[in-house]
Amino acid sequence: MLAKPRLLARTTGLARPLNPALFFRAFSAAPMVRNQASVAAGTAEPKKKKRFPFWKTLWRLTYGSLIVGTAVTSYSIYTTRHPADQPNPDPSKKKLVILGSGWGSASLLKKIDASEYNITVVSPRNFFLFTPLLPSCTTGTIEHRSIMEPIRAIIRNKEASVTYYEAEATNIDYENKKLVIKESANHDREEASGTRTIDFDYLVIGVGAQNSTFGIPGVQDNACFLKEIPDAQKIRQKIMDRIEAASFKNLDDEDRKRLLHTVVVGGGPTGVEFAAELQDFFEEDLKKWIPEIAKDFKVTLVEALPNVLPSFSKQLIEYTEKTFQAEKITVLTKTMVKKVTSDVVTAEATKSDGTKEIIELPYGLLVWATGNSARPVIRDLMSRIPAQKNSRRGLLVNEYLVVEGTEGIWAVGDCTATKYAPTAQVATQQGIYLAGLFNQLAYAVTLEEEISQLEEIVKGATNEQDRKAALSEVDSRTRRLRRSRSLLPFEYSHQGSLAYIGSDRAVADLSFWGNSSNFATGGSLTYLFWRSAYVSMCFSTRNKLLVIMDWLKVKIFGRDVSRE
Ligand code: FAD
Ligand code: NAD
Repeated sequence: MLAKPRLLARTTGLARPLNPALFFRAFSAAPMVRNQASVAAGTAEPKKKKRFPFWKTLWRLTYGSLIVGTAVTSYSIYTTRHPADQPNPDPSKKKLVILGSGWGSASLLKKIDASEYNITVVSPRNFFLFTPLLPSCTTGTIEHRSIMEPIRAIIRNKEASVTYYEAEATNIDYENKKLVIKESANHDREEASGTRTIDFDYLVIGVGAQNSTFGIPGVQDNACFLKEIPDAQKIRQKIMDRIEAASFKNLDDEDRKRLLHTVVVGGGPTGVEFAAELQDFFEEDLKKWIPEIAKDFKVTLVEALPNVLPSFSKQLIEYTEKTFQAEKITVLTKTMVKKVTSDVVTAEATKSDGTKEIIELPYGLLVWATGNSARPVIRDLMSRIPAQKNSRRGLLVNEYLVVEGTEGIWAVGDCTATKYAPTAQVATQQGIYLAGLFNQLAYAVTLEEEISQLEEIVKGATNEQDRKAALSEVDSRTRRLRRSRSLLPFEYSHQGSLAYIGSDRAVADLSFWGNSSNFATGGSLTYLFWRSAYVSMCFSTRNKLLVIMDWLKVKIFGRDVSRE
């Protein structure tokens, strides 16, 4: 006989007696009956109506998706951490050299079939950088390693092994298909950086661009830029340095105000996002931990055009300017910086009546974000190709992204001068396009080889049946070859633009149905969309998880105000 529930509770040490129905069900497979007597009498209780069916379904769906999400994430982590053995590249295949490890080159590398080429990647930066979250690194909202993906992790997961050199291309000999590369010099080794020459059959140039200063005196020596990880680290250090220095009691008022004044030049998305991040840092953290700086801390954004974010729609520009006003970020539009010294920015402001006036902005930190200019290696290449002589901004390419005036050389991203804006979106789509083009080229080569083998079979066929079968194979492959050779030109599809404007708000200009329809939105919901869009775009599962954890960390503990 089974023990009574209360007795069992005592003997098993359970605090509460078990539900008798559940208890007996644990021993017997017979269906659970509420009231045996009522069943016998045929007066069983009517079935109870299910309560909250919607919430139950929602809960089940959430629960189910959590399980599926966890399984997919775990699988993805497992496969990246346990890459399969890679075959060595086949020496008979073409040598493809890819310059750079940014948006264009990394997306090409991700999609290309590496077993079809001998691929070498050359880049002074041995990681891919998710630039959209770089402004968040300047204040510690995101830790820099969360947005870096090692190039070694990318190439180790390819179909065949890929060579990587941590070096920069210093000379591109487009006629003889040779490249001079120089080992990156940022090591602490005694010996000088080595150089070497490498040959290529095909070359893809994805070296990006450098910061433009327009030759304005003093900018290069005194300003911080925001393009790479060391730039963000330098800004983060300088923010804390200026704040700690300003708290030093012996400083006079003027000096303290100057140290706590950050001037951001350039009202494009980089300048706007940085100004917004810095003001957030001040409002949410610095003010709390270092209250003595509160009254003098100031951020000024200087823009030469009549408004900030010129590439966004009118209502979003107005919304951003209003939000900045509420956040107490000073915006000086129609103000062109002319000169910079170690502590003063001199600018020419155009007043509403059209007259001009020279203004001086004493600063502690100057961040320069006025867009791109071509890198020296690109300017040098352009100067040697007659077809590139008239280009100023970057390499001219045709509709297949082939560098004008060359053969077997393509270019992607910010190093090109096209009708598109220099964005990650454009560079990524170009990289993916080239991967498709190279995969198609490789397929065409395979078909050509098969056709010539089949033609040999046709020639040597001893009976009519074999000859006919081989001929029909030649026919079908020739048709496929023709199709694979009909390459489509590159076409950009704009998905929209997003920018963070501070106080947990973002603006978004979204495009639908191939740019034919636009939707402009701004605010806190857009900010949630901004966050989810950027997380989904992060390069790897590791990056996605690290970024989410950084956001959570800041929500819970605030940003770290210690100096690195
Ligand atoms: P990059 O990504 O700059 O990569 C260039 C690569 O070439 C790097 O690996 C570099 O080390 C390497 N390299 C440099 N010189 C050499 C050389 N001589 N030889 C070999 N390799 C070399 N765009 C968006 O669409 N959305 C955004 O939200 C956005 N946010 C941004 C935020 C910031 C702060 C910045 C700076 C840019 C942002 N952009 C954004 C623009 C976007 O980052 C660029 O358009 C994109 O990086 C261009 O990609 P790319 O591959 O051409 O060059
Ligand atoms: P940008 O070219 O978009 O903007 C630079 C701004 O600086 C311009 O508005 C220009 O008028 C201004 N300027 C130039 N010289 C000046 C001077 N002397 N004084 C005052 N103002 C001056 O540059 P960016 O913001 O660095 O962006 C570069 C590229 O990266 C753009 O294509 C941009 O779309 C892209 N980007 C996109 C995002 C995003 O989508 N969230 C974020 C950052 C960058």
